[in-house]
Amino acid sequence: MNGYQESDFAGVTFSVAFTGELDRQLAAHLDKGLYQEDLAFAYWKPSRGTKRYTAILMQVVMPVEGDRVLQGNVAFTADYLGRVQRECPEGYGIALLHSHPVPGWQDMSDDDEFAEGVRLGGSVANSSGHPVLGLTRGTDGSWSARFWLRAGPRKYVRHDCETVRVAAVEALRITHHPALCPPPAEQPTQVATVSVWGAAAQADLARTRVGIVGLGSVGGIIAEALNRLGIENVTYIDHDIVEARNLDRTLNARPKDVDEHLTKVAIAKRAAEVSHTAGVFHAEAVPASILTPEGLAAALDCDVLLSCVDRPWPRALLNLIAYGHLIPVVDGGILARTDKNGRPLHVDWRIHTVTAGRACLYCLGALLRSDVALERAGKLDDPDYFANLPEADRERYARRNVFPFSLAVAGHQTLQLVGIVTGMPRVGGKGPQHYSVYPGEMRVNDVTACDPACEIQPITGTALALDDWLKATESA
Ligand SMILES: [Zn+2]
Ligand SMILES: [Zn+2]
Repeated sequence: MNGYQESDFAGVTFSVAFTGELDRQLAAHLDKGLYQEDLAFAYWKPSRGTKRYTAILMQVVMPVEGDRVLQGNVAFTADYLGRVQRECPEGYGIALLHSHPVPGWQDMSDDDEFAEGVRLGGSVANSSGHPVLGLTRGTDGSWSARFWLRAGPRKYVRHDCETVRVAAVEALRITHHPALCPPPAEQPTQVATVSVWGAAAQADLARTRVGIVGLGSVGGIIAEALNRLGIENVTYIDHDIVEARNLDRTLNARPKDVDEHLTKVAIAKRAAEVSHTAGVFHAEAVPASILTPEGLAAALDCDVLLSCVDRPWPRALLNLIAYGHLIPVVDGGILARTDKNGRPLHVDWRIHTVTAGRACLYCLGALLRSDVALERAGKLDDPDYFANLPEADRERYARRNVFPFSLAVAGHQTLQLVGIVTGMPRVGGKGPQHYSVYPGEMRVNDVTACDPACEIQPITGTALALDDWLKATESA
């Protein structure tokens, strides 16, 4: 998945992602009504998963007077292209975006094929080191996209993207390729589900690639919920092996699985194979931590991630993925405090969705930078260090839980997943949720943005490399 030779992309699928803010900027420029198409160049960076190559669109280079020829359809001048190539920052790719006066995923005209495949294919690959990317915007805001890969001398071949993903504050809006990702056939198993939110929302939901990070108590229940919702592609990421102490909280785990040292992802996959309700179904079981190159790459193949890990370090990484790689993360956490005699004192849980334009896990107060630093330095696994912590900190790390707490959190995380995919606040709720078991009350906050000083917001849509985040820090 490097460079622009077709042979280096065997078996790879393609996608494009950008923010809702960039989408608005492009719409204002490209939507010229029914009788005029328009165009612009833009810069992008690659985000590489295990199987998916995504261009993260970052910056539009708006045309100036004389940069294009507008006569109903539209063409760019050699001067415009030259300027875009000269000013292209190191490591970035070049995209050509244009509009069509019809809705939906767009076919290519002969002029489009010539502009992208012949005029740009070789020139852009040579100057940038990345394949040229073409995007078309329809009148309904749908996007279609393709990369042009080198198959031989002067021969650039079109590879259509499966999806174009716009990570907007209110929803993740995905346009699906009608042949590569067709809407699901009507399923007799999904009649009741469709009666709640309609066939269009179900078609979006079913085709969303959902990753679950952490297949413990909450993650295992969400996996079952996804099976029932008809999600076609799921990825499970967890390196843990099931133990006897997990059996009171892990759906579908059996005593025999403990004897056989089964991984939690294998248990989830086994259950999904028999209970899924999608017409076509694929579950990817990745027996690796999100903190490994394998686990991270699997996460970057997903459209939305469900954070079901309670450790601070993996959640810090998921926070970075949500903004840097524009993959919304639905996170949930349970805090159960007990008194000295081991009786329940306060039990709370909170559920929130972090995505471009919304407050991140740090700004929500759902994750502490100091906890992340402690775990990366190895302190959380150091019994001496742990014993000397203040009571409040020890409570935070104790990770007490019972199955019904997990049921509640998993239910709300699944609803927030539906909310961010369908854009239906009537299902997903209007913002971060905080539940107190006593007296039994859900508080809901408005969606907010990151603090101005937050270091996460500026990395939005930068496809930043995360390799350093997989390494521990020197113990202080
Ligand atoms: Zn066109
Ligand atoms: Zn923030």
